[in-house]
Amino acid sequence: MESREIRLLRRPVGMPQPEDFEIATVDVPEPEEGEVQVQNLCMSVDPYMRGRMIDRKSYTPPFQVGEPLNGGAIGKVVASADPDHPVGEHVSHRWGWREAFTCPGKELQGLGELKAPVSAYLGAIGMPGMTAYVGLLEVGALKDGETVFVSGAAGAVGSIVGQIAKLHGCRVLGSAGSAEKIAWLTDELGFDYAFDYHDGSILDHLREGAPDGIDVYFDNVGGEHLQAALTCMRPSGRIPLCGAISMYNATEPVPGPNNLTMAIGLSLTLRGFIVSNFNHLAAQFRSEMEEWVTNGSIKYRETIFAGIEKAPEAFIGLFTGANTGKMVVTLGG
Ligand code: NDP
Repeated sequence: MESREIRLLRRPVGMPQPEDFEIATVDVPEPEEGEVQVQNLCMSVDPYMRGRMIDRKSYTPPFQVGEPLNGGAIGKVVASADPDHPVGEHVSHRWGWREAFTCPGKELQGLGELKAPVSAYLGAIGMPGMTAYVGLLEVGALKDGETVFVSGAAGAVGSIVGQIAKLHGCRVLGSAGSAEKIAWLTDELGFDYAFDYHDGSILDHLREGAPDGIDVYFDNVGGEHLQAALTCMRPSGRIPLCGAISMYNATEPVPGPNNLTMAIGLSLTLRGFIVSNFNHLAAQFRSEMEEWVTNGSIKYRETIFAGIEKAPEAFIGLFTGANTGKMVVTLGG
């Protein structure tokens, strides 16, 4: 069996380019004892992968030039020499950016019975949904009826953050990059106030949308968004620091917010987190989110790129706002 895979050809400088990647075809070995052969169905491209393209120490090791990339994906077992993973099983794993592969069965997580389409387990019921859930409820310590602002609101994480906050009776504000995204947030997802951050000052929008201030700012973007939100926080507000996508392609160090002292007088909590810090909540998250998705309390969208050769374009699209909801690459099989 053959598989195509995407490799890092060179480390991107600034905005990633298609020329930073190459596609190669490899043979996929038959599984030996304890191994499993998997055909991928869909794979994730995620903003954090940009950081792994830089040669530096982080919470995940850097990608190596000339090597295939990797990341979250879902596939189906097509041959197995591991009784724990029978042929036909849907498995979640870190062997993305390729069509098929053989690996030790212990590197796969069986998904069990699926209650939603398989790609939902990369998005709303997968890592981004879990990030929203733990970031808002655990890190953000959300209380019913509070005022919540989320940036990157029409993305995979942000769209779920806003909807969970609505389920908790909150007033919800969101920012995103286009009029179509804003219409989705207000007309379909129930956001109370949403704005295009290209249009006017973020601070003015926050003052208009949250005249009494913000209790929880879920930060996906950093930079100007964080600075504006700090100015509008209520006493004892919380800021889960989830991501800072506005800075991921910076070629020079980016200055921090110039008003961090707001955090002192207002007794704010700014807390960074990584979703995997909360793996102990994975089963609870899955059962609650499957229920919300199947009963329609939580809606999700996907932007689909079909074919492994489209994976670099899908990845780059995360930084130009090409996605509404979760960016997914579908693969044959
Ligand atoms: P999204 O689905 O939100 O996709 C990225 C979006 O970011 C784009 O669609 C674009 O939307 C927006 N964006 C891109 N560049 C900028 C910019 N310069 N300024 C403002 N917005 C920008 O991605 P995810 O939901 O997967 O991730 C959202 C954030 O959460 C990221 O920062 C990511 O790194 C972080 N994250 C953190 C995790 C953790 O464990 N801490 C886990 C998962 C994600 P628009 O059109 O609105 O600009």
